[in-house]
Amino acid sequence: MNNIKLKRVEMYKVALQPVGPFVAAHGTIGERPIVIVRVWDADGNYGWGECIAQSKPGYLSETVDSAWKALHAGVIPAAMSREFENPDKLSAYLAVAMRQTPVAAAAVEMAAWDMIARRQGRSLSNFFGGIRSNVPAGRTLGLPPAGERLAGMVEEARRSGYQRIKIKIEPSRALSLASEAVQAAGGIPVVADANGSFSPLEVQKLRELDAVNLAWIEQPYPAASLRAASELRDTLVTQIALDESVNSLNAIDRITDMHAAAGISIKPGRLGGYGAALQAYRKAKAAGLTVWIGGMLETGIGRAHNLALASLPGFDFPGDMSPSKVYWKQDLLTEPIEMVAGHIAVPDGPGIGVDVDKNHLAAATIERRVVE
Ligand SMILES: [Mg+2]
Repeated sequence: MNNIKLKRVEMYKVALQPVGPFVAAHGTIGERPIVIVRVWDADGNYGWGECIAQSKPGYLSETVDSAWKALHAGVIPAAMSREFENPDKLSAYLAVAMRQTPVAAAAVEMAAWDMIARRQGRSLSNFFGGIRSNVPAGRTLGLPPAGERLAGMVEEARRSGYQRIKIKIEPSRALSLASEAVQAAGGIPVVADANGSFSPLEVQKLRELDAVNLAWIEQPYPAASLRAASELRDTLVTQIALDESVNSLNAIDRITDMHAAAGISIKPGRLGGYGAALQAYRKAKAAGLTVWIGGMLETGIGRAHNLALASLPGFDFPGDMSPSKVYWKQDLLTEPIEMVAGHIAVPDGPGIGVDVDKNHLAAATIERRVVE
């Protein structure tokens, strides 16, 4: 019942219209193509997956173009090459065969889990042992565009009902941005995400943030600087979380061994899919780390996948989880993901529980490829 023998995989490169550009310390994300995959078995069961690669390297080493090539040249042929007893076996196989391209592999791997859950008529949340029917929404705000006040953006997010606000910071204006955000947030937890933009030589600027009463500082230093993160933790009251550093299961062991963080952001799309993400989650919980789901400006497909994982016990701090409309003028789904009273419902239909609007998918597709 859990076996996977893929018969056909469709790849779509889609261009959705963003509501506006999103600015972080690592660059600006505007309109970008997004890779979507749909896997099929011989009985007509299907599942959807989304690749989190961005247009340019930086945040991830894989890009939309490299992932597209890796998918049709490597990941899809590997996934179609044999029958797997269950999705864990597919995960384990891709984790070795496609270890250089975990971001591309995750799209197919996650689609396969969706397919299995759909085939059984169960929601993916139920399949994973999820316990929540809705999860608290967390808004992530980019660096304010020239002429706009961060406080205004934060106030709007607070009024909309978000349970957590994440701001982006960079060394030159971290203190002013963080102070402005915490004041405007009116008691809602604020996370300041530096995206690795501080050098360990700028530790004093991070120490200044301790006065601001942030809930977390996320990824102060570059991904590999775990020793510096650990030293920073010793000098700060504010909790440190890591995101970019969490790029493999081994990395989680190193973070734990070095006491480099009190919390981590788990992104299944970066770790190679759910097989690794579930292991990451178990490792993190065993080590007493706070975990949350990290967003990558996904379409509704990726968002629905994230909701299934966020429904597990232990995802106790609000992740990057917002309704479709904050990023996209029109999402790919028949029904956009909505926020109600600061929460987003975990879809309870089969699989990821959402359906793709086929007409909109066709209209948004700039390149399509089918592997059979
Ligand atoms: Mg982050």
